[in-house]
Amino acid sequence: MKCLALLSICFVAALSQKLFIGEQVLRIQARNEGQIAQLRELEEMEHLQLDFWRSPAKPELPVDIRVPFVSIQAVKVFLESNDIPYSTMIDDVQALLDQEKEDMLRARLLERNTNSFNYAAYHTLEEIYSWIDSLVSEYPNLVSKLQIGSSYEKRPLYVLKFSTGGSNRPAIWIDYGIHSREWITVATGLWTAKKIASGYGTDPSVTATLNKMDIFIELVVNPDGYVYTHTKDRMWRKTRSPNSGSSCIGVDPNRNWDAGFGSSGSSGNVCSESYRGPYAHSEVEVKAIVDFFKQHGNIQSFLSLHSYSQMLLYPYGYTYSPAPDDAELNAVAKKAVAALTSKYGTKYTYGRVITTIYQASGITIDWTYLNGAKYSFTFELRDTGYYGFLLPANQILPTSEETWLALQEIIQHVRDNTN
Ligand SMILES: [Zn+2]
Repeated sequence: MKCLALLSICFVAALSQKLFIGEQVLRIQARNEGQIAQLRELEEMEHLQLDFWRSPAKPELPVDIRVPFVSIQAVKVFLESNDIPYSTMIDDVQALLDQEKEDMLRARLLERNTNSFNYAAYHTLEEIYSWIDSLVSEYPNLVSKLQIGSSYEKRPLYVLKFSTGGSNRPAIWIDYGIHSREWITVATGLWTAKKIASGYGTDPSVTATLNKMDIFIELVVNPDGYVYTHTKDRMWRKTRSPNSGSSCIGVDPNRNWDAGFGSSGSSGNVCSESYRGPYAHSEVEVKAIVDFFKQHGNIQSFLSLHSYSQMLLYPYGYTYSPAPDDAELNAVAKKAVAALTSKYGTKYTYGRVITTIYQASGITIDWTYLNGAKYSFTFELRDTGYYGFLLPANQILPTSEETWLALQEIIQHVRDNTN
């Protein structure tokens, strides 16, 4: 650990946090469908305790697996004996985590010394919730804080409302952090919220949007998981609700929605990272959004942010049938991706969830689309597999800036096509 200067803090953290010493992330490039099937068999071998960052889908898409030290030899033997090509994506997971922690501590010290918020750093839930209050007090006539419910562990679920008045105006929803280890989404959300708040009255596009529509932003959909990634296990993805009859905790909140719930593209195994839950909307974090969405009744666009893979996706995930608005959603995605790429050259792919990645059932944007939010999209932010979920903080600002260009394209389209 590179933290001699911060030894005491590191020592305390190390006592309770899961360590990933000797762990690697392997990048696997299957040659054909047969090898995809073999990788699915590997995924079922629970004793290896593998963490599939990207699951086997189709030969064009790589498979990324975090492998515990004790399983590395077995996995490599499996791949080599089946002639499946692979490379080492992350040689030392723990080293990246140490660097990440050191970056956070440095940023926090700097923030205290300068008394200013650093958008180029990752933050804890406590820091984010305090930042929410400071944003509301800085823009009291534009931004307000709503509580739409409480998490399983009784943390408040906050939503920022950006509104210039009117009653029940058509609205755009943007959420971040539904999968807790995808920290880049949350950090991008803070930057974006500030961009919108400061843009009213100065940025013509933001101003035109907020003169016609409201924007709702939930920065941390899964706060229990997010806290857990900071205090116990950086790789945690699911919620933190217990499963009866099992020691495995949590549900995948992006397989828990009532849209093709329970069909192919989710897991019924409580220990799986894509466990769908006992029934649709079982997770209070999901149910809170469902209730808010229905009660509002006029959410025209629903944007849900994930990482990683650099993709912009639209419905459906659960069925191969094209959505009724498939052509329009494709056209919007195309121009959004072009705008994003124009900033730093970051390459994105786009399309339906089911054809672009794989079949996924019970996902957020299928439910929101089926319930009236015509412009429902999911982003998979940076990168394509150099750091994966452990994207360094120095990529927060460029990621936020390029993503904003895509968001703006979508928002403008929604604004111009909504009465
Ligand atoms: Zn995700």
